[in-house]
Amino acid sequence: MLTRTTIHADGTWRGALSGETREVLDPADGRPFAVVAEGGAADADAAVAAARTAFDSGAWPGTPVAERAALLRRAAGLLVRDREELALLESRDAGKTLEEGRIDVDCVADAFRYFADLAVAEGQGRVVDAGSDTVHSVVVHEPVGVCAMITPWNYPLLQASWKIAPALAAGNTFVLKPSEITPLSTVAMIALLVEAGLPNGVANLVTGPGHTVGARLAEHPDVDLVSFTGGLTSGVKVAQAAAPGVKKVALELGGKNPNVVFADACRTAEGFDTAVDQALNAAFIHSGQVCSAGSRLIVEESVRERFVAELGRRAARIRLGRGTEKGVECGPLVSRAQLERTEEYVASALAEGAVLRNGGRRPEPSATRPAGGYFYEPTVLDRCHRGMRVIREEIFGPVLTVETFRTEEEAVALANDTEYGLAGAVWTADAARARRVAGRLRHGTVWINDFHPYLPQAEWGGFGKSGVGRELGPSGLAEYRETKHVYQNLAPRPVRWFSG
Ligand code: NAD
Repeated sequence: MLTRTTIHADGTWRGALSGETREVLDPADGRPFAVVAEGGAADADAAVAAARTAFDSGAWPGTPVAERAALLRRAAGLLVRDREELALLESRDAGKTLEEGRIDVDCVADAFRYFADLAVAEGQGRVVDAGSDTVHSVVVHEPVGVCAMITPWNYPLLQASWKIAPALAAGNTFVLKPSEITPLSTVAMIALLVEAGLPNGVANLVTGPGHTVGARLAEHPDVDLVSFTGGLTSGVKVAQAAAPGVKKVALELGGKNPNVVFADACRTAEGFDTAVDQALNAAFIHSGQVCSAGSRLIVEESVRERFVAELGRRAARIRLGRGTEKGVECGPLVSRAQLERTEEYVASALAEGAVLRNGGRRPEPSATRPAGGYFYEPTVLDRCHRGMRVIREEIFGPVLTVETFRTEEEAVALANDTEYGLAGAVWTADAARARRVAGRLRHGTVWINDFHPYLPQAEWGGFGKSGVGRELGPSGLAEYRETKHVYQNLAPRPVRWFSG
Protein backbone atom coordinates (compact mmCIF):
# COMPACT_ATOMS: atom_id res chain seq x y z
CA MET A 1 0.00 0.00 0.00
CA LEU A 2 0.96 3.67 -0.05
CA THR A 3 3.86 4.59 2.17
CA ARG A 4 5.41 7.79 3.41
CA THR A 5 5.88 9.75 0.17
CA THR A 6 2.45 11.34 0.09
CA ILE A 7 3.40 15.00 -0.05
CA HIS A 8 3.42 16.43 -3.54
CA ALA A 9 5.03 19.85 -4.04
CA ASP A 10 6.37 21.30 -7.26
CA GLY A 11 6.01 17.99 -9.08
CA THR A 12 7.96 15.92 -6.56
CA TRP A 13 6.66 13.22 -4.21
CA ARG A 14 8.33 13.13 -0.81
CA GLY A 15 7.89 12.52 2.90
CA ALA A 16 7.30 15.15 5.59
CA LEU A 17 10.16 17.58 6.19
CA SER A 18 10.07 16.48 9.83
CA GLY A 19 10.27 12.82 8.78
CA GLU A 20 7.08 12.10 10.74
CA THR A 21 4.56 9.55 9.52
CA ARG A 22 1.02 8.49 10.41
CA GLU A 23 -0.64 5.11 10.26
CA VAL A 24 -3.93 4.99 8.40
CA LEU A 25 -6.46 2.64 10.03
CA ASP A 26 -9.00 0.39 8.35
CA PRO A 27 -12.25 1.23 10.18
CA ALA A 28 -13.57 -2.28 9.56
CA ASP A 29 -10.99 -3.80 11.93
CA GLY A 30 -9.22 -0.85 13.52
CA ARG A 31 -5.87 -2.01 12.18
CA PRO A 32 -3.30 0.06 10.21
CA PHE A 33 -3.08 -0.69 6.52
CA ALA A 34 -1.01 2.23 5.18
CA VAL A 35 1.53 4.78 6.35
CA VAL A 36 1.51 8.35 5.07
CA ALA A 37 3.64 11.44 5.57
CA GLU A 38 2.55 13.51 8.54
CA GLY A 39 3.15 16.96 7.06
CA GLY A 40 3.37 20.13 9.13
CA ALA A 41 3.36 23.91 8.68
CA ALA A 42 6.75 23.83 6.91
CA ASP A 43 5.39 21.37 4.34
CA ALA A 44 2.39 23.63 3.82
CA ASP A 45 4.72 26.59 3.26
CA ALA A 46 6.76 24.67 0.68
CA ALA A 47 3.64 23.58 -1.19
CA VAL A 48 2.21 27.11 -1.19
CA ALA A 49 5.53 28.43 -2.52
CA ALA A 50 5.35 25.90 -5.38
CA ALA A 51 1.74 26.82 -6.16
CA ARG A 52 2.58 30.55 -6.01
CA THR A 53 5.52 30.20 -8.39
CA ALA A 54 3.47 28.11 -10.80
CA PHE A 55 0.65 30.64 -10.76
CA ASP A 56 2.88 33.70 -11.05
CA SER A 57 4.76 32.18 -13.98
CA GLY A 58 1.49 32.58 -15.85
CA ALA A 59 1.86 29.27 -17.64
CA TRP A 60 -1.23 27.50 -16.30
CA PRO A 61 -3.49 30.58 -15.96
CA GLY A 62 -2.39 31.50 -19.50
CA THR A 63 -3.11 28.07 -20.96
CA PRO A 64 -6.12 28.35 -23.29
CA VAL A 65 -9.28 27.20 -21.57
CA ALA A 66 -9.83 24.51 -24.22
CA GLU A 67 -6.46 22.95 -23.29
CA ARG A 68 -7.21 23.10 -19.58
CA ALA A 69 -10.55 21.46 -20.29
CA ALA A 70 -8.86 18.75 -22.36
CA LEU A 71 -6.60 17.95 -19.42
CA LEU A 72 -9.61 17.63 -17.11
CA ARG A 73 -11.25 15.26 -19.57
CA ARG A 74 -8.06 13.18 -19.74
CA ALA A 75 -8.06 13.04 -15.94
CA ALA A 76 -11.70 11.88 -16.00
CA GLY A 77 -10.68 9.07 -18.36
CA LEU A 78 -7.88 8.01 -16.01
CA LEU A 79 -10.27 8.02 -13.07
CA VAL A 80 -12.56 5.69 -14.97
CA ARG A 81 -9.59 3.49 -15.90
CA ASP A 82 -8.62 3.18 -12.20
CA ARG A 83 -12.21 2.95 -10.93
CA GLU A 84 -11.84 -0.35 -9.08
CA GLU A 85 -8.56 0.60 -7.45
CA LEU A 86 -9.90 3.97 -6.30
CA ALA A 87 -13.16 2.44 -5.06
CA LEU A 88 -11.17 -0.08 -3.04
CA LEU A 89 -9.01 2.65 -1.49
CA GLU A 90 -12.12 4.66 -0.61
CA SER A 91 -13.71 1.58 0.94
CA ARG A 92 -10.66 0.60 3.02
CA ASP A 93 -10.08 4.18 4.10
CA ALA A 94 -13.56 5.56 4.76
CA GLY A 95 -15.35 2.25 5.44
CA LYS A 96 -17.94 2.63 2.70
CA THR A 97 -19.07 -0.29 0.55
CA LEU A 98 -17.25 -0.97 -2.69
CA GLU A 99 -20.38 -0.10 -4.64
CA GLU A 100 -20.56 3.31 -2.92
CA GLY A 101 -16.88 3.78 -3.74
CA ARG A 102 -17.54 3.02 -7.41
CA ILE A 103 -20.43 5.49 -7.52
CA ASP A 104 -18.17 8.12 -5.93
CA VAL A 105 -15.52 7.60 -8.63
CA ASP A 106 -18.15 7.93 -11.37
CA CYS A 107 -19.40 11.17 -9.79
CA VAL A 108 -15.84 12.49 -9.56
CA ALA A 109 -15.28 11.81 -13.27
CA ASP A 110 -18.62 13.54 -14.00
CA ALA A 111 -17.49 16.61 -12.03
CA PHE A 112 -14.26 16.81 -14.05
CA ARG A 113 -16.17 16.55 -17.34
CA TYR A 114 -18.84 19.01 -16.24
CA PHE A 115 -16.40 21.77 -15.27
CA ALA A 116 -14.35 21.16 -18.42
CA ASP A 117 -17.49 21.70 -20.54
CA LEU A 118 -18.73 24.65 -18.48
CA ALA A 119 -15.43 26.54 -18.61
CA VAL A 120 -15.33 26.19 -22.39
CA ALA A 121 -19.01 27.13 -22.78
CA GLU A 122 -18.67 30.23 -20.58
CA GLY A 123 -15.57 31.34 -22.46
CA GLN A 124 -13.54 34.31 -21.35
CA GLY A 125 -16.27 36.77 -20.54
CA ARG A 126 -18.91 39.02 -22.09
CA VAL A 127 -19.06 42.25 -24.01
CA VAL A 128 -21.02 44.97 -22.22
CA ASP A 129 -23.06 47.54 -24.13
CA ALA A 130 -21.55 50.82 -22.93
CA GLY A 131 -24.04 52.89 -24.92
CA SER A 132 -21.29 54.44 -27.04
CA ASP A 133 -19.58 53.52 -30.32
CA THR A 134 -16.30 54.79 -28.96
CA VAL A 135 -16.18 52.46 -25.96
CA HIS A 136 -15.38 48.77 -25.97
CA SER A 137 -16.30 47.26 -22.61
CA VAL A 138 -15.81 43.65 -21.60
CA VAL A 139 -16.19 41.73 -18.36
CA VAL A 140 -13.63 38.95 -18.23
CA HIS A 141 -12.99 36.04 -15.88
CA GLU A 142 -9.57 35.41 -14.43
CA PRO A 143 -8.35 32.81 -11.96
CA VAL A 144 -8.20 33.85 -8.30
CA GLY A 145 -4.65 32.58 -7.79
CA VAL A 146 -3.39 30.06 -5.24
CA CYS A 147 -6.23 28.07 -3.70
CA ALA A 148 -6.04 26.14 -0.43
CA MET A 149 -8.45 23.22 -0.30
CA ILE A 150 -9.27 21.38 2.91
CA THR A 151 -11.46 18.29 2.72
CA PRO A 152 -13.26 15.89 5.10
CA TRP A 153 -13.18 12.10 5.50
CA ASN A 154 -16.68 11.09 4.47
CA TYR A 155 -16.35 11.65 0.71
CA PRO A 156 -12.61 12.19 0.29
CA LEU A 157 -12.49 11.96 -3.51
CA LEU A 158 -15.82 13.55 -4.26
CA GLN A 159 -15.37 16.60 -2.03
CA ALA A 160 -11.87 17.15 -3.43
CA SER A 161 -13.15 16.92 -7.02
CA TRP A 162 -15.78 19.62 -6.43
CA LYS A 163 -12.87 21.97 -5.67
CA ILE A 164 -10.10 20.68 -7.94
CA ALA A 165 -12.12 20.52 -11.14
CA PRO A 166 -13.47 24.11 -11.12
CA ALA A 167 -10.19 25.50 -9.76
CA LEU A 168 -8.17 23.94 -12.60
CA ALA A 169 -10.78 24.76 -15.22
CA ALA A 170 -10.55 28.41 -14.17
CA GLY A 171 -6.71 28.41 -14.29
CA ASN A 172 -5.80 28.40 -10.60
CA THR A 173 -3.04 26.49 -8.85
CA PHE A 174 -3.73 24.78 -5.54
CA VAL A 175 -2.58 23.07 -2.38
CA LEU A 176 -4.93 20.38 -1.11
CA LYS A 177 -5.02 18.98 2.40
CA PRO A 178 -7.17 15.86 2.68
CA SER A 179 -8.50 14.60 5.99
CA GLU A 180 -5.72 12.98 8.00
CA ILE A 181 -8.06 10.01 8.57
CA THR A 182 -8.63 9.26 4.86
CA PRO A 183 -5.81 10.62 2.70
CA LEU A 184 -5.18 7.69 0.36
CA SER A 185 -7.62 8.14 -2.51
CA THR A 186 -6.74 11.84 -2.74
CA VAL A 187 -3.07 10.95 -3.09
CA ALA A 188 -4.02 8.61 -5.93
CA MET A 189 -6.13 11.32 -7.61
CA ILE A 190 -3.26 13.82 -7.56
CA ALA A 191 -1.06 11.16 -9.17
CA LEU A 192 -3.66 10.84 -11.95
CA LEU A 193 -3.64 14.60 -12.55
CA VAL A 194 0.13 14.43 -12.94
CA GLU A 195 -0.28 11.53 -15.35
CA ALA A 196 -2.83 13.57 -17.30
CA GLY A 197 -0.09 16.13 -17.91
CA LEU A 198 -0.61 18.87 -15.33
CA PRO A 199 2.53 21.04 -15.15
CA ASN A 200 4.67 20.98 -11.99
CA GLY A 201 3.50 23.17 -9.14
CA VAL A 202 -0.12 23.43 -10.31
CA ALA A 203 -1.50 20.61 -8.11
CA ASN A 204 0.14 20.25 -4.70
CA LEU A 205 -0.86 18.00 -1.83
CA VAL A 206 0.09 17.99 1.84
CA THR A 207 -1.10 15.16 4.06
CA GLY A 208 -1.26 16.05 7.75
CA PRO A 209 -3.48 17.32 10.54
CA GLY A 210 -5.92 20.19 10.43
CA HIS A 211 -4.55 22.17 13.35
CA THR A 212 -1.09 22.40 11.70
CA VAL A 213 -1.28 22.00 7.92
CA GLY A 214 -4.90 23.14 7.55
CA ALA A 215 -4.48 26.09 9.89
CA ARG A 216 -1.29 27.22 8.10
CA LEU A 217 -2.95 27.02 4.70
CA ALA A 218 -5.93 29.04 5.92
CA GLU A 219 -3.76 31.90 7.24
CA HIS A 220 -0.95 31.78 4.66
CA PRO A 221 -0.34 35.23 3.11
CA ASP A 222 0.35 33.72 -0.32
CA VAL A 223 -2.97 31.88 -0.46
CA ASP A 224 -5.73 33.82 -2.24
CA LEU A 225 -8.71 31.56 -1.60
CA VAL A 226 -9.58 28.92 0.97
CA SER A 227 -12.21 26.35 0.17
CA PHE A 228 -13.12 24.22 3.16
CA THR A 229 -15.47 21.30 3.60
CA GLY A 230 -15.90 19.91 7.08
CA GLY A 231 -17.49 20.54 10.45
CA LEU A 232 -18.86 23.84 11.77
CA THR A 233 -16.23 24.30 14.50
CA SER A 234 -13.30 23.84 12.10
CA GLY A 235 -15.03 25.99 9.47
CA VAL A 236 -15.29 28.91 11.87
CA LYS A 237 -11.57 28.58 12.69
CA VAL A 238 -10.70 28.54 8.99
CA ALA A 239 -12.76 31.68 8.36
CA GLN A 240 -11.11 33.43 11.30
CA ALA A 241 -7.61 32.44 10.15
CA ALA A 242 -8.35 33.65 6.61
CA ALA A 243 -9.94 36.96 7.66
CA PRO A 244 -6.82 39.10 8.29
CA GLY A 245 -5.60 38.33 4.76
CA VAL A 246 -9.07 39.14 3.35
CA LYS A 247 -8.94 35.89 1.38
CA LYS A 248 -11.92 34.57 -0.43
CA VAL A 249 -13.48 31.87 1.72
CA ALA A 250 -15.89 29.12 0.73
CA LEU A 251 -17.31 26.92 3.47
CA GLU A 252 -19.29 23.71 3.05
CA LEU A 253 -20.26 22.71 6.56
CA GLY A 254 -22.62 20.36 8.30
CA GLY A 255 -26.34 19.80 8.22
CA LYS A 256 -29.27 18.68 10.34
CA ASN A 257 -31.47 17.73 7.49
CA PRO A 258 -35.25 17.27 7.78
CA ASN A 259 -37.13 14.58 5.89
CA VAL A 260 -40.78 15.67 6.05
CA VAL A 261 -43.36 12.95 5.35
CA PHE A 262 -47.05 13.85 4.92
CA ALA A 263 -49.63 11.12 5.50
CA ASP A 264 -50.92 11.44 1.92
CA ALA A 265 -47.55 10.16 0.64
CA CYS A 266 -48.30 6.88 2.44
CA ARG A 267 -51.89 6.41 1.23
CA THR A 268 -51.05 3.65 -1.26
CA ALA A 269 -48.97 0.59 -0.39
CA GLU A 270 -46.45 1.62 -3.02
CA GLY A 271 -46.23 5.18 -1.70
CA PHE A 272 -45.72 3.93 1.86
CA ASP A 273 -43.05 1.45 0.77
CA THR A 274 -41.17 4.14 -1.20
CA ALA A 275 -41.27 6.72 1.59
CA VAL A 276 -40.01 4.19 4.18
CA ASP A 277 -37.34 2.84 1.84
CA GLN A 278 -36.06 6.33 1.07
CA ALA A 279 -36.16 7.39 4.71
CA LEU A 280 -33.81 4.48 5.43
CA ASN A 281 -31.57 5.47 2.55
CA ALA A 282 -31.63 9.12 3.61
CA ALA A 283 -30.50 8.33 7.14
CA PHE A 284 -28.30 5.26 6.95
CA ILE A 285 -26.32 5.28 3.73
CA HIS A 286 -22.58 5.41 4.60
CA SER A 287 -23.69 4.87 8.22
CA GLY A 288 -25.22 8.36 8.27
CA GLN A 289 -21.85 10.02 7.71
CA VAL A 290 -23.22 12.25 4.99
CA CYS A 291 -23.50 16.03 5.33
CA SER A 292 -26.95 15.88 3.75
CA ALA A 293 -28.12 12.78 5.67
CA GLY A 294 -31.86 12.84 6.33
CA SER A 295 -31.26 12.37 10.03
CA ARG A 296 -34.48 14.08 11.19
CA LEU A 297 -37.66 12.29 10.17
CA ILE A 298 -40.59 14.68 10.61
CA VAL A 299 -43.68 12.59 9.99
CA GLU A 300 -47.39 13.40 10.16
CA GLU A 301 -48.78 12.17 13.48
CA SER A 302 -51.54 10.06 11.89
CA VAL A 303 -49.03 7.72 10.17
CA ARG A 304 -46.25 7.87 12.75
CA GLU A 305 -46.77 4.49 14.42
CA ARG A 306 -47.11 2.55 11.17
CA PHE A 307 -44.18 4.38 9.58
CA VAL A 308 -41.81 4.05 12.51
CA ALA A 309 -42.66 0.39 13.11
CA GLU A 310 -41.82 -0.41 9.50
CA LEU A 311 -38.65 1.71 9.64
CA GLY A 312 -37.46 -0.13 12.74
CA ARG A 313 -38.22 -3.50 11.16
CA ARG A 314 -36.27 -2.69 7.99
CA ALA A 315 -33.40 -0.94 9.78
CA ALA A 316 -32.85 -4.17 11.74
CA ARG A 317 -32.30 -6.01 8.46
CA ILE A 318 -29.53 -3.72 7.13
CA ARG A 319 -26.46 -5.90 6.65
CA LEU A 320 -23.50 -4.31 8.43
CA GLY A 321 -19.95 -5.36 7.67
CA ARG A 322 -16.64 -4.63 6.04
CA GLY A 323 -17.36 -2.56 2.93
CA THR A 324 -15.36 -4.84 0.66
CA GLU A 325 -17.39 -7.97 1.59
CA LYS A 326 -20.07 -9.21 -0.79
CA GLY A 327 -23.62 -8.62 0.37
CA VAL A 328 -22.69 -5.94 2.91
CA GLU A 329 -25.03 -2.94 2.70
CA CYS A 330 -23.45 -0.62 5.23
CA GLY A 331 -19.90 -0.24 6.51
CA PRO A 332 -18.48 0.86 9.86
CA LEU A 333 -18.12 4.38 11.19
CA VAL A 334 -14.87 6.00 10.12
CA SER A 335 -13.12 6.06 13.51
CA ARG A 336 -13.36 5.08 17.15
CA ALA A 337 -13.98 8.75 17.99
CA GLN A 338 -16.96 8.83 15.63
CA LEU A 339 -18.32 5.60 17.13
CA GLU A 340 -18.03 6.89 20.69
CA ARG A 341 -19.57 10.21 19.70
CA THR A 342 -22.56 8.37 18.23
CA GLU A 343 -22.93 6.30 21.41
CA GLU A 344 -22.86 9.44 23.54
CA TYR A 345 -25.57 11.09 21.46
CA VAL A 346 -27.84 8.05 21.65
CA ALA A 347 -27.32 7.82 25.42
CA SER A 348 -28.18 11.52 25.78
CA ALA A 349 -31.38 11.08 23.75
CA LEU A 350 -32.50 8.08 25.82
CA ALA A 351 -31.78 10.01 29.01
CA GLU A 352 -33.93 12.86 27.61
CA GLY A 353 -36.89 10.54 26.94
CA ALA A 354 -36.44 9.22 23.39
CA VAL A 355 -37.78 5.72 22.66
CA LEU A 356 -35.47 3.25 20.92
CA ARG A 357 -37.13 1.49 17.95
CA ASN A 358 -33.99 -0.20 16.62
CA GLY A 359 -30.25 -0.31 17.23
CA GLY A 360 -28.67 1.74 19.97
CA ARG A 361 -25.66 -0.56 20.29
CA ARG A 362 -22.61 -2.05 18.61
CA PRO A 363 -23.45 -5.28 16.78
CA GLU A 364 -21.87 -8.61 17.62
CA PRO A 365 -18.78 -9.43 15.55
CA SER A 366 -19.42 -11.83 12.66
CA ALA A 367 -17.71 -13.33 9.62
CA THR A 368 -18.01 -10.00 7.81
CA ARG A 369 -17.64 -7.82 10.96
CA PRO A 370 -14.22 -8.06 12.63
CA ALA A 371 -14.20 -7.50 16.39
CA GLY A 372 -12.06 -4.33 16.23
CA GLY A 373 -14.28 -2.60 13.65
CA TYR A 374 -16.18 0.60 14.43
CA PHE A 375 -19.65 -0.77 13.69
CA TYR A 376 -22.88 0.65 15.10
CA GLU A 377 -26.40 -0.59 14.44
CA PRO A 378 -28.76 1.65 12.46
CA THR A 379 -30.66 3.37 15.22
CA VAL A 380 -34.19 4.75 15.22
CA LEU A 381 -35.10 7.12 18.07
CA ASP A 382 -38.82 7.79 18.38
CA ARG A 383 -40.57 10.53 20.39
CA CYS A 384 -37.87 13.13 19.94
CA HIS A 385 -38.38 16.87 20.40
CA ARG A 386 -36.46 20.06 19.86
CA GLY A 387 -35.20 20.22 23.44
CA MET A 388 -32.93 17.24 22.76
CA ARG A 389 -29.30 17.51 21.66
CA VAL A 390 -29.89 14.85 19.00
CA ILE A 391 -32.35 17.17 17.29
CA ARG A 392 -30.15 20.25 17.34
CA GLU A 393 -26.63 18.89 16.78
CA GLU A 394 -25.15 17.00 13.86
CA ILE A 395 -24.39 13.42 14.97
CA PHE A 396 -22.80 12.12 11.77
CA GLY A 397 -23.64 8.52 12.58
CA PRO A 398 -26.42 6.00 11.81
CA VAL A 399 -29.05 7.66 14.00
CA LEU A 400 -32.52 8.65 12.79
CA THR A 401 -34.65 10.78 15.08
CA VAL A 402 -38.44 10.95 14.77
CA GLU A 403 -40.59 14.02 15.40
CA THR A 404 -44.24 14.50 14.45
CA PHE A 405 -46.54 17.26 13.21
CA ARG A 406 -50.27 17.77 12.72
CA THR A 407 -50.37 20.70 10.29
CA GLU A 408 -48.39 21.88 7.28
CA GLU A 409 -47.45 25.00 9.20
CA GLU A 410 -46.02 22.93 12.01
CA ALA A 411 -44.10 20.71 9.56
CA VAL A 412 -42.42 23.71 7.94
CA ALA A 413 -41.61 25.27 11.32
CA LEU A 414 -39.98 22.06 12.55
CA ALA A 415 -38.02 21.56 9.32
CA ASN A 416 -36.65 25.09 9.52
CA ASP A 417 -35.93 24.93 13.24
CA THR A 418 -32.19 24.39 12.86
CA GLU A 419 -29.13 26.61 12.72
CA TYR A 420 -28.06 24.62 9.66
CA GLY A 421 -29.72 24.68 6.24
CA LEU A 422 -28.02 22.24 3.91
CA ALA A 423 -30.74 19.96 2.55
CA GLY A 424 -34.25 18.72 3.19
CA ALA A 425 -37.04 16.72 1.61
CA VAL A 426 -40.81 16.74 1.50
CA TRP A 427 -42.92 13.67 0.71
CA THR A 428 -46.50 14.27 -0.39
CA ALA A 429 -48.94 13.19 -3.08
CA ASP A 430 -50.28 16.76 -3.27
CA ALA A 431 -48.29 18.62 -5.96
CA ALA A 432 -49.42 22.07 -4.81
CA ARG A 433 -48.42 21.32 -1.24
CA ALA A 434 -45.07 19.94 -2.42
CA ARG A 435 -44.24 23.21 -4.17
CA ARG A 436 -45.55 25.32 -1.27
CA VAL A 437 -43.47 23.48 1.34
CA ALA A 438 -40.37 23.30 -0.89
CA GLY A 439 -40.64 27.05 -1.35
CA ARG A 440 -40.66 27.64 2.39
CA LEU A 441 -37.81 25.32 3.40
CA ARG A 442 -34.68 27.30 4.28
CA HIS A 443 -32.22 24.76 2.91
CA GLY A 444 -29.77 24.84 0.00
CA THR A 445 -31.19 21.71 -1.63
CA VAL A 446 -34.81 20.57 -1.39
CA TRP A 447 -36.00 17.24 -2.70
CA ILE A 448 -39.64 16.53 -3.46
CA ASN A 449 -40.50 12.83 -3.17
CA ASP A 450 -36.83 11.86 -3.26
CA PHE A 451 -33.72 12.09 -1.13
CA HIS A 452 -30.01 12.52 -1.84
CA PRO A 453 -29.69 12.93 -5.62
CA TYR A 454 -27.55 15.86 -6.69
CA LEU A 455 -26.53 17.08 -10.13
CA PRO A 456 -23.12 18.53 -11.02
CA GLN A 457 -24.98 21.17 -13.02
CA ALA A 458 -26.95 22.35 -9.96
CA GLU A 459 -25.47 24.34 -7.10
CA TRP A 460 -24.76 22.59 -3.79
CA GLY A 461 -24.36 24.42 -0.49
CA GLY A 462 -26.06 25.63 2.59
CA PHE A 463 -28.19 28.33 4.14
CA GLY A 464 -27.37 29.46 7.67
CA LYS A 465 -24.46 27.72 9.37
CA SER A 466 -24.24 25.08 6.65
CA GLY A 467 -21.83 27.31 4.85
CA VAL A 468 -20.81 30.19 2.66
CA GLY A 469 -20.78 29.99 -1.13
CA ARG A 470 -21.75 27.16 -3.45
CA GLU A 471 -20.04 24.23 -5.08
CA LEU A 472 -21.09 22.68 -8.40
CA GLY A 473 -23.11 24.46 -11.07
CA PRO A 474 -22.04 27.78 -12.59
CA SER A 475 -21.62 29.27 -9.08
CA GLY A 476 -19.15 26.47 -8.28
CA LEU A 477 -16.94 27.70 -11.11
CA ALA A 478 -17.49 31.36 -10.23
CA GLU A 479 -16.01 30.72 -6.75
CA TYR A 480 -12.64 30.19 -8.44
CA ARG A 481 -12.74 33.25 -10.66
CA GLU A 482 -12.07 36.92 -10.28
CA THR A 483 -14.25 39.14 -12.40
CA LYS A 484 -12.62 42.07 -14.15
CA HIS A 485 -14.23 44.89 -16.09
CA VAL A 486 -12.02 46.19 -18.93
CA TYR A 487 -13.28 49.53 -20.30
CA GLN A 488 -11.51 50.73 -23.42
CA ASN A 489 -12.01 54.26 -24.70
CA LEU A 490 -11.49 54.13 -28.45
CA ALA A 491 -11.48 57.95 -28.84
CA PRO A 492 -9.84 59.45 -25.74
CA ARG A 493 -10.28 63.21 -25.16
CA PRO A 494 -9.67 65.52 -22.19
CA VAL A 495 -12.60 65.64 -19.77
CA ARG A 496 -11.80 69.22 -18.52
CA TRP A 497 -13.15 68.58 -15.04
CA PHE A 498 -10.36 70.72 -13.70
CA SER A 499 -9.68 74.12 -15.16
CA GLY A 500 -5.85 73.75 -15.02
P1 NAD B 1 -13.52 18.33 10.33
O1 NAD B 1 -13.98 19.74 10.41
O2 NAD B 1 -13.06 17.67 11.56
O3 NAD B 1 -12.30 18.21 9.31
C1 NAD B 1 -12.41 18.62 7.97
C2 NAD B 1 -11.04 19.00 7.47
O4 NAD B 1 -10.61 20.18 8.15
C3 NAD B 1 -9.96 17.95 7.74
O5 NAD B 1 -9.08 17.90 6.65
C4 NAD B 1 -9.28 18.49 8.97
O6 NAD B 1 -7.95 18.05 9.10
C5 NAD B 1 -9.34 19.99 8.71
N1 NAD B 1 -9.23 20.85 9.88
C6 NAD B 1 -9.62 20.58 11.15
N2 NAD B 1 -9.36 21.65 11.94
C7 NAD B 1 -8.82 22.61 11.15
C8 NAD B 1 -8.34 23.93 11.38
N3 NAD B 1 -8.36 24.49 12.59
N4 NAD B 1 -7.87 24.63 10.33
C9 NAD B 1 -7.86 24.09 9.09
N5 NAD B 1 -8.26 22.84 8.82
C10 NAD B 1 -8.75 22.11 9.83
O7 NAD B 1 -14.68 17.54 9.60
P2 NAD B 1 -14.73 15.98 9.33
O8 NAD B 1 -15.03 15.34 10.64
O9 NAD B 1 -13.56 15.54 8.54
O10 NAD B 1 -15.99 15.88 8.35
C11 NAD B 1 -17.28 15.84 8.81
C12 NAD B 1 -17.95 17.19 8.66
O11 NAD B 1 -17.88 17.63 7.31
C13 NAD B 1 -19.41 17.12 8.99
O12 NAD B 1 -19.77 18.22 9.76
C14 NAD B 1 -20.07 17.19 7.63
O13 NAD B 1 -21.38 17.63 7.67
C15 NAD B 1 -19.16 18.07 6.89
N6 NAD B 1 -19.31 17.90 5.43
C16 NAD B 1 -19.98 18.85 4.72
C17 NAD B 1 -20.19 18.69 3.35
C18 NAD B 1 -20.96 19.72 2.54
O14 NAD B 1 -20.98 19.61 1.31
N7 NAD B 1 -21.58 20.71 3.15
C19 NAD B 1 -19.70 17.55 2.72
C20 NAD B 1 -19.03 16.60 3.47
C21 NAD B 1 -18.84 16.79 4.83
